[in-house]
Amino acid sequence: MRTLNARQRRSKKRHLYLKQHGFCALCHTPHPASELILKHRVHRKAGGANTLANLRLICHPCNRHPAA
Ligand SMILES: [Zn+2]
Repeated sequence: MRTLNARQRRSKKRHLYLKQHGFCALCHTPHPASELILKHRVHRKAGGANTLANLRLICHPCNRHPAA
């Protein structure tokens, strides 16, 4: 599967932001959309898909944490 272009990425991020009600998927703290990062649950290299089911939004502190 090809990588997401910028427009698709923004659209998915907005969808997930609404779905997660602006909360980080890991620490469950509310953040503005600009502070959340689109991340794959299963990494692309591990066979993860570019689908909403395999994507979630996490905050910058969680992204830096090894458990993320
Ligand atoms: Zn977080």
